Amino acid sequence: MDSGFYIVATPIGNLRDMSYRAVDILQGVDLIAAEDTRHSQRLLQHYTITTPTLAYHDHSDERALIKIENCLASGGSVALVSDAGTPLISDPGYRLVRFVQERGYAVRPVPGACAAIAALSVSGLATDRFMFEGFLPVKPGTRSNRLESLAGETATLIFYEAPHRVRDCLEAMRNAFGSEREAVLAREITKTFETVKRGSLAELVGFVGADDNQQRGEIVILVAGKRGGEQEMGERTSALLRRLAQELPAKRAAAIVAEHTGLRKKELYRYLLSLKVDGPSK
Ligand code: SAM
Repeated sequence: MDSGFYIVATPIGNLRDMSYRAVDILQGVDLIAAEDTRHSQRLLQHYTITTPTLAYHDHSDERALIKIENCLASGGSVALVSDAGTPLISDPGYRLVRFVQERGYAVRPVPGACAAIAALSVSGLATDRFMFEGFLPVKPGTRSNRLESLAGETATLIFYEAPHRVRDCLEAMRNAFGSEREAVLAREITKTFETVKRGSLAELVGFVGADDNQQRGEIVILVAGKRGGEQEMGERTSALLRRLAQELPAKRAAAIVAEHTGLRKKELYRYLLSLKVDGPSK
C-alpha cells in the first residue's frame, strides 16, 4: 500500500456496501481518523479491523492534526472515515485535506457510498446536471431565502434534511418552487424501510403529512430543475393563462393563475411577456 492520507467512504446503512479496497486500506493504515470513534467501531469490528483510531472533526484542536502529521512524516499512512458515506460530503475533513496537501503528502480517495449520488441514481430525475445543496439553513426565513435564490436553477437540486424538519422543508420548497414542481423523497436508502417517492411538491407534502413514518430516518430530497415556462405549468394551465391575458392585463392574469395553481406569479407574468400576448393594457 502506498503511504499517504486516504479518504475512505463507508456504507450509508447496509454494512455490505463496503468495498474490498476500503477494508484493505483500513486494515493497512497506521491510524484511522474518525468523526466519531465509537460510531465507527461497529463497522471496524464487522470487518475485523483493529487499526488504532483517533477522533477527528473540523473543530478538533491542533493535537489531532499533529498526530496525523507525525504519522505521515514518519512514512506512515492515515485514513479518514466519517459516520457514514463519503467523508467531506456534509461531513468533516475539508480542513484536514487542505492541511495534509499543504504539507506535501498525497491525498488518495477510496470511493464508495454517498447518499446524494445513491438517491440521484434512483430518483428518475434528470442526472445530466445536478447541484448538491447539502443541508438548508435551519431558520425558516433564511431557508426560504435560500430556496427562492434556487427557484430559477435548471439543474436537479439535491438536499439533505433532518427527519423532524422534512415536512416544513417540503412546504417551504412548494412555496418557493411551486406546487407542480417534480421532486423525490429518498428515505433510508439501503436500509429496511428504504422508500423512494416521486411526485409534485404538493403531493410530497401530502405524502409525508399523511404518514408520520415518512418523517423518520435519514432523508434526501431532490427537486427537478426549473423547466421552460410552458413545460413547467403544463399545457392546460398555459392555455388558460394565455386566454385570460387576452381579456385582462398580463399582471392580473398571472395573479389569478398563481392563486389557483400555486405557480409563481412573477414567472407566469414573465412567461406572458415572453409570448408578447396581445391583450388590454399591461
Ligand atoms: N457523508 C454522507 C454521504 O456521503 O452521503 C452524508 C453525511 S450527512 C451528515 C448525513 C445526511 O445524509 C443525513 O441527514 C441524510 O440527509 C443523508 N443520508 C445519509 N444516509 C442516508 C440514507 N441511508 N438514506 C437517505 N439519506 C441518507
